[in-house]
Amino acid sequence: MKTKLLILSSFVGFAFLAQAQEISNGVMRFNELRKPIYREIINIPEVNGYQVLKCDFHTHTVFSDGQVWPTIRAQEVWEEGLDATAITDHIEYHPHKKFVEVNHNRSHELIEELSKKNNVILIKGSEITRQTPPGHFNAIFIKDASSFIEDNANEKDWEAVMKAFEQDAFIFWNHPGWRPNIEGSYEWLPFIEELYKKNALHGIEVINGFGFHMKALDWCVDKGLTVMGSTDIHNLIAHDYDRSKEYVHRTMTLVMAKERTPESIREALKAGRTVAWASKYLAGKEENVKNLVNACIKLLPSHFTQENQNGTKTNFYEIQNNSDLYFELELTSGKGTQKITLYPMSSQLISAEAGQQSISYDVTNAYVRSNKFLNISFSL
Ligand SMILES: [Zn+2]
Ligand SMILES: [Zn+2]
Repeated sequence: MKTKLLILSSFVGFAFLAQAQEISNGVMRFNELRKPIYREIINIPEVNGYQVLKCDFHTHTVFSDGQVWPTIRAQEVWEEGLDATAITDHIEYHPHKKFVEVNHNRSHELIEELSKKNNVILIKGSEITRQTPPGHFNAIFIKDASSFIEDNANEKDWEAVMKAFEQDAFIFWNHPGWRPNIEGSYEWLPFIEELYKKNALHGIEVINGFGFHMKALDWCVDKGLTVMGSTDIHNLIAHDYDRSKEYVHRTMTLVMAKERTPESIREALKAGRTVAWASKYLAGKEENVKNLVNACIKLLPSHFTQENQNGTKTNFYEIQNNSDLYFELELTSGKGTQKITLYPMSSQLISAEAGQQSISYDVTNAYVRSNKFLNISFSL
């Protein structure tokens, strides 16, 4: 949890302060002023025996149109406590090519060693960037990014995606609603249908950065595709995300995997065990979101019963959030507390009229369809 780590880090700072400042060759070093270096821990309990891995499979560097060198990406994911990532530079778009050699595999290669050292799983990927529509596709678990087509997009759209498919890639359609003014850009086009029929489309980026592509969630649910969430970060994470807020993290995919390995991640992605997470918001298939939320929220047995003047009784309960996720609940059936905000790693008191068997809430920050919240019930 962020607060605890910040307190800890200020103790570390204090420890530095208590020591004599280092003086060497007439230079005093104010080391206590440096940013403490540590890896954040994002607390999410296991879900039905699966580890919940924090993954961002859509990022850019100067090797396409990003603003940073690949090592910055590796440092960011380490500091933020991610388990796995991929650099997915555009195959067809290289605005820095005058200064940075065009090499489709280089951004990945440059951080392979560092990622191993940092205990971050690095998956090889690239973004196949075709005109919109149909738009952009991420291919991860690829072998060689340089073998994809490098034309200017119009005619050979198909071939590029199929080349990734032939490399046994996991392919997802990126940000389908990103250019709503272009006709057909937010539609289930014949091109998409063909890929889907050939089993060459495996997921859709339902949340891209700060954009929730709501129709895409319904497509994933209806067609059995995997729900993805990612940053599509081009600048520094610190530039785009206000991480000083306790509940703000980069947008990511929570992958429910048997083990913390690339093979397990691939298996979980293929099986669709994911939830997209954008700080306060969750989006995913109902079963996955429900399992995740049930693993995080716990209602303890009633600890107090109040006798009311009208002869009724009210039970008091503690409701706990054992995770760094954030939840807002609104009563949908039963008589009890109407609205509950569960901040990361915290609990609240709730009350319910005695004699009820159960109580139900909509989780109003957790979407299981574009127009439907997750509903959860607690036995009383
Ligand atoms: Zn894109
Ligand atoms: Zn992108």
